[in-house]
Amino acid sequence: MSRYILVTGGAGFIGSHICKALARAGMIPVTYDNLSTGHADSVRWGPLIRGELGDAMALRRTMAEFSPDCVIHCGANAYVGESVEMPRKYYRNNVVGSLTLLEACLDQEIDKIVFSSSCATYGVPASLPIREESPQQPVNPYGRTKLIFEMALEDFAAAYGICFAALRYFNAAGADPEGELAERHEPETHLIPRALLAAAGRLERLDIFGTDYSTADGTCVRDYIHVSDLAQAHLAAVNHLMAGGDSLSVNLGSGRGTSVREILEAIYRTTGHEVPVRYRSRRAGDPPILFANTARAKAELGFAPILSDIDTIIRTAGPTFGLEVTA
Ligand code: UDP
Repeated sequence: MSRYILVTGGAGFIGSHICKALARAGMIPVTYDNLSTGHADSVRWGPLIRGELGDAMALRRTMAEFSPDCVIHCGANAYVGESVEMPRKYYRNNVVGSLTLLEACLDQEIDKIVFSSSCATYGVPASLPIREESPQQPVNPYGRTKLIFEMALEDFAAAYGICFAALRYFNAAGADPEGELAERHEPETHLIPRALLAAAGRLERLDIFGTDYSTADGTCVRDYIHVSDLAQAHLAAVNHLMAGGDSLSVNLGSGRGTSVREILEAIYRTTGHEVPVRYRSRRAGDPPILFANTARAKAELGFAPILSDIDTIIRTAGPTFGLEVTA
């Protein structure tokens, strides 16, 4: 018998890749999404229920209809800048909405939850690479909303016996290697898609935010993980919880840092296109360097990324922006 897995945010960039990975593993993803940022045409591996996270009745109805074995909770607002401008929206959706979901899980006796958390919960790290035990001191409302829900999961686990996996994503990038899914944000703020748009001539130029950081080439360093690797990690987390594994919090990254300039070099190397750039001042709230210690994901989930080298990320994402790539 196939297992239903409820995926909030299953119509989004990461959620849709997760649904594909679940289906490949013989599970049926049930997407629960309000389509505020997701796309209905990305929901191809199971039913789409259009609903709000804050709608307790709709959540309970959906859970009663499908009796999912596990919930993967990706549905959230995820723009750091917007979270500073509109914290009300972020606390409402990411905190109140997530708690509504968690209470519905308790009421419907669903006790396994995989949560999309973020390296934004660490803030500016005191040491690198970032380990899961590193202090979590978020520096923006988005990171705080993610941390608050991690805390709720811990408290609910202790009191009510739920099991959870909090997955702290680093920078998700790339696209389905089979070309079925792409990154489609509106507005697009992330580095790699913006750089690819500029390389394809669909954006006048890429703004590089800061060239005076204390990094090897002066630009910010991030840990990019391929979205299909990220999806596989969710599958591993579901399997871990289904097998009776303990609750855990893990970093999901490649373990390597890549600078903004190195991304542009990789785009040139794999597509032959220069990215036209403009040098700008630093973007508020950007930590200079972030990359993960990935040992726990390997030890606890048996997860290791296989598509997360930067050239593979660009090779899979490039065609979705109309760029031809080298083999
Ligand atoms: N960045 C940039 N130009 C852009 C978008 C991003 O220089 O148009 C830089 C940004 O300052 C950061 C890195 O690229 O250092 C990654 O930013 P992104 O928004 O993709 O992810 P974040 O790390 O903020 O979650």
